[in-house]
Amino acid sequence: MVADQVLQVVDNDFRCDACPLCGARRIRKVGEIPRLESVPYASIQVRLMRDPELWHCLACASRFVRNSVREADSARLYGSSNSGDRWRRNRPFHQEKTAGVVRRVAQVCKAGETLLDVGCNTGDLLDFARSQGCVTYGIEFSGSVHPQLREKGHQVIGDPLAEGEGYFDVITAFDLIEHLYDVNGFLKVCGRALRIGGKLVILTGDPGCVPARLAGGRWWYVAPPEHIVFPSRRFLSGLDGWRVAEWHRCYNSVAWVRPLLTAVRANLSAAVHRRYNGHPSPWPDHVLAVLEKVG
Ligand SMILES: [Zn+2]
Repeated sequence: MVADQVLQVVDNDFRCDACPLCGARRIRKVGEIPRLESVPYASIQVRLMRDPELWHCLACASRFVRNSVREADSARLYGSSNSGDRWRRNRPFHQEKTAGVVRRVAQVCKAGETLLDVGCNTGDLLDFARSQGCVTYGIEFSGSVHPQLREKGHQVIGDPLAEGEGYFDVITAFDLIEHLYDVNGFLKVCGRALRIGGKLVILTGDPGCVPARLAGGRWWYVAPPEHIVFPSRRFLSGLDGWRVAEWHRCYNSVAWVRPLLTAVRANLSAAVHRRYNGHPSPWPDHVLAVLEKVG
């Protein structure tokens, strides 16, 4: 972790002119995103040079960040990070995730079928899929966790198409899509890697949830500089070649579920002090979207 302690200054000057998801130019600024002096990018501490901004697409209702880190800098930072350090979890997948999420993932994990987890980190989801009988594959940008994944019996690949087109029955992408510079490119590759009827299971923040709409640029999940794009249900429902089979509103993990009164009290206190950021939330603020490849 010694190298990770060095603070890197990053010029976050990337601004797309149109919605990075549907391409529409009808966009409006939601607000400035509060900028901290020092924030983690994967496991590296960085300082941003500009104020990031949250924008809303009037055509597809997705949200995205302008003044984000350039893709080349992003690749460099992720590539030199140790993701296992940043996101090491103590609990296995079925205890970390909410019951509704675990049940739905279990439903798509059929014995003997192939499952690929993109951005698999240390393999918590893969461990669960394997316990359900799946043949498991993982893609992880940070190479430091590859030996651990292999030790646990997961196959590590570098590209969803490494095994050939139509090879996978299920692809999962948890806490991933909000980091991507080319969501449409990613969906296209997943579509080619899945068989017809195969499922792409995405877990991400829901830009249409109540806290996101109330908090605007202060929504905690926007969390610059890593999260840059927040696809809406309208965008995902309009994709050619896919059908939204499930749209399950949820929390990212059981750790985010708070008693209703506790959450409401915290929210009111934050609102009074003008620092409401939607957390903790009395409502689910993530979504588990199951997309079925239809053609
Ligand atoms: Zn759009």
